[in-house]
Amino acid sequence: MNVPFADLNLQYHTIKDEIDQAIASVIRDSAFIRGPYVDAFEQEFAEAVGVSHCVSCANGTDALYIAMRALGIAAGAEVITTAHSWISTSSMITHSGANVVFCDTDARTFTIDPAAIENAITPQTVGIIPVHLYGQPADMDAIMAIARKHKLWVLEDCAQAHLARYKGQQVGTFGEAATFSFYPGKNLGAMGDAGAIVTNDAALATRMAKIARHGGLTKHQHEVEGINSRLDGLQAAILSVKLRHLSAWTNARRAAAAIYDAGLSQIQNLTIPYLAAEREHVYHLYTVQHPRRDELARHLNANGVQTAVNYPTALPFLQSYKRLGLRPEEFPNAHRHQSRILSLPMFSEITTAQQSVVIDLVATFGPS
Ligand SMILES: *Cc1c(COP(=O)(O)O)cnc(C)c1O
Repeated sequence: MNVPFADLNLQYHTIKDEIDQAIASVIRDSAFIRGPYVDAFEQEFAEAVGVSHCVSCANGTDALYIAMRALGIAAGAEVITTAHSWISTSSMITHSGANVVFCDTDARTFTIDPAAIENAITPQTVGIIPVHLYGQPADMDAIMAIARKHKLWVLEDCAQAHLARYKGQQVGTFGEAATFSFYPGKNLGAMGDAGAIVTNDAALATRMAKIARHGGLTKHQHEVEGINSRLDGLQAAILSVKLRHLSAWTNARRAAAAIYDAGLSQIQNLTIPYLAAEREHVYHLYTVQHPRRDELARHLNANGVQTAVNYPTALPFLQSYKRLGLRPEEFPNAHRHQSRILSLPMFSEITTAQQSVVIDLVATFGPS
């Protein structure tokens, strides 16, 4: 039996009628750019996160850029983020005009280490971008305490963590603003690129909307130089349909994670995902650690199980940051994890039979 890493086609077929109808409606109404479907999704998503404003945009990368432009980046400003994330988190810091400052991760949760944040703060620091990596919330109490003490803004990168909770509070509601990606493979995924920023700050929401829409909300009135970053009507209508299923899909991911946990917890040399106290993980990825990661991946792949490495090089060690001259000793956890992490197949529709195949293959991967 082959086990895919994810199965978007299968998900589509479980809601085919709803999706097909939504797409047909947008075409019927020619509501391709802005319009009622985009307005409706923005409102529904704000409600789902529990915030007052949602500004949709073209993707999760633009969301980070737009949010930082709206927060305001002065020359020489520094923004702190985690060493372990997708490149967008740090590249958009640079593109928004700030200098990126990396922090190591916690040894067990893969999320930014609050103690490292304290050490990285300088008089130039203006903000912190925690990433709720793989679907597990970062340590938001500690991060918000540091931010308040040093008067820094917090922008949560929630691209992998739709509906995750920290001490009962949903991610995306802690900082000044939060960004989401609806890339097809994310927990809430469009059928193309899509993204959003959420906030409870009305003035900030207006600035973000202006930046996303050529610098103004009224035609031909460009108050600032913005960009063109739109969620299109088709994607909005598709996302509205999928949003109705998101909490059921999230529960299914959690149930699948529990099956993996039970099946994989006693295997020598294998470390299963660590769930910190009072965090509701949404398992965008189920990422294990193994000292012979590449061999384990080859063993699984050779037997029909797709895996992924998220990500093979931690951000400070990428070619794009060579100029910063960062060393592995400065980011021991992120550096250690990059050669040990392996993401196993995880999607809402994964069957127990598929999971058994994965578990058996991992269990029989012998020492060599
Ligand atoms: C996916 C992702 C992004 C970027 O989202 P896109 O929609 O692909 O641009 C940003 N940050 C993290 C952590 C992500 O996983």
